[in-house]
Amino acid sequence: MPVDWVVVGLDNGGTTNNGTILDSSGRFLLDRMAEVPSDVREGPDKAIQSLVVSVEQVLGLTGVPITSVRAVGLDTPGPASGDGVISSKGATNFGHAGWRGFDIRGALAERLGLPVIYNNDGNSAALYAHHVRFGAESGHRSSVAAIVGTGLGGGIIHAGQVIKGAAGMAGELGHVPIPLDGLLDAGQSMPGCNCGQSGDAESVASLTGIQNNLLPYWLTRYRHHELGGLPAGKAAKLVRKYAEDGDEMSLAIFRQQAIAIGRLFTIAANFLDPDAYFLGGGVVEAAPHFRDWFFAEVRANTVLREEQARAAEISLVPDLDMAGARGSAVAARDWLIRQGHEVKTAGILFLRRRDQHDHDKASRLIALVVVVMRTAGRKAGTLARADGMALAGDRQRHGA
Ligand SMILES: [Zn+2]
Repeated sequence: MPVDWVVVGLDNGGTTNNGTILDSSGRFLLDRMAEVPSDVREGPDKAIQSLVVSVEQVLGLTGVPITSVRAVGLDTPGPASGDGVISSKGATNFGHAGWRGFDIRGALAERLGLPVIYNNDGNSAALYAHHVRFGAESGHRSSVAAIVGTGLGGGIIHAGQVIKGAAGMAGELGHVPIPLDGLLDAGQSMPGCNCGQSGDAESVASLTGIQNNLLPYWLTRYRHHELGGLPAGKAAKLVRKYAEDGDEMSLAIFRQQAIAIGRLFTIAANFLDPDAYFLGGGVVEAAPHFRDWFFAEVRANTVLREEQARAAEISLVPDLDMAGARGSAVAARDWLIRQGHEVKTAGILFLRRRDQHDHDKASRLIALVVVVMRTAGRKAGTLARADGMALAGDRQRHGA
């Protein structure tokens, strides 16, 4: 199978990395999950190494040589900057002290000697949903995706691109306050969110919202419910199973979640008026009868103007388990194409040295294909090259 160039997409999670590979024509060369342990709990060094292993794995599975890889897309859970610097206050998945303020994008780029395009995991999944739905039209469409998990993630895509915002904090749908009248029961206390706000979308529509807010309230209404006897975390995770089985209390909890998401989409309609509203998360993978009920409840609570209802659609995020890796790959391919690099294997080569330290090494490169990316606002570490060597794991880091 002839391959001119490819990009690799990596989804970095708390326990595993999932990888995929996308060719220049936009075709995924892997149709299943390719996972390795992510080692994030052991700190940045181990975790960067396991991301490299992930790249090697997808190349091994597809027989594509490293020299064909032009860029890598990476996503992680947040909070992180729009360019992949993990929050200096730490993050749920990145508890090891070495992660605080760590530039995971820059470190992987340095290690691979390839440009790495970063998005948070919600944004990657949103981008993938957008591309699956709109294909060649992606660049002319906009969408909003809400993905219900431990928190409420997602993202905003406009004209085919992730909206990151000035500080990298756009598309934080979970922390948009929503109206709660008619959602909360009389006597139900205001739900709080880990972000410090009360009454935002995530405080209701997330597993954390169930555990901290919804379940404790509903157990006061159903005092003899079986879930009342379990630890809160375990009980919260079981609510979906109970809802699938028709349990009245659990359905009341999910109804509140559906109202919250519908109200969030209504806010999105007035701010952005997108072509599509995507819903993803565990509930999408639930039993079909329950999933359809939940989806119908979300639609019923999404208030669109007549013109909007005709022009837009509400649908589910496909292939959710692969959406992060695939969205990361799409982001990398889009980025490459935007740089004007329709890379030709025998193309004209330009090499710009990254910095003084790198000058000697760079000038010694065998220029099988060497392409310098316009830095496009990125740090100077994004010099791209495919130098015919194995993954450049032995290179020292400069400024990572
Ligand atoms: Zn919040």
